[in-house]
Amino acid sequence: VMARLSTLKTLSGFDFAFQPSLDKARIMALAELSFVGRCEAVHFLGPPGTGKSHLATAIGVEAIKAGKSVYFSTLADLIGALAKAEREGTLREKIRFFCRFSLLIVDEIGYLPVIAGGGNLFFQLVNARYEKGAMILTSNRGFAEWGEIFGDAVVATALLDRLLHHAIVVQIDGSSYRLRRHADLLPEH
Ligand code: ADP
Repeated sequence: VMARLSTLKTLSGFDFAFQPSLDKARIMALAELSFVGRCEAVHFLGPPGTGKSHLATAIGVEAIKAGKSVYFSTLADLIGALAKAEREGTLREKIRFFCRFSLLIVDEIGYLPVIAGGGNLFFQLVNARYEKGAMILTSNRGFAEWGEIFGDAVVATALLDRLLHHAIVVQIDGSSYRLRRHADLLPEH
């Protein structure tokens, strides 16, 4: 976990000047980690390449430095692990395992379609952690699209009920850092 978290994705390595829609003071306040103690959910929303994973990881690094336990996963890998545990009859143990971390980071919500039954598994985890542990979630899609992402409007509504109750939503409206040297190739907007 630490190895994946620490590959140069730090707050000092983040160029706030590149992303002017982002309030630096707000991000630095999140890095003070009081949201972890309050068991809140932080959502980073925005198009690909705008630094959502970077910021989620950087805050995770700060949490580890502060002695907190952190687990980082993509949504697809997390659901894959839960589905495997369910097949093996160890879902309860797996959910308990993921509940042990003070901060669970779930990256890349919305890129890949969730496997059948995956939304239900993720809901069981989110519900088990609700008001017991903090989360950071990143997504390139809006909350209105969660029904489509999870393939189930009822599960999506139940997920959002938990994940928006004690929540901090950070919307990034900018261009991709990955494509910063290729602005001439991008469609105008
Ligand atoms: P997203 O999760 O929004 O798709 P990432 O956080 O993965 O985007 O960012 C894509 C790449 O660009 C990563 O290597 C990240 O470290 C880098 N990056 C993005 N935004 C910035 C920034 N403002 N300053 C420095 N590096 C950035």
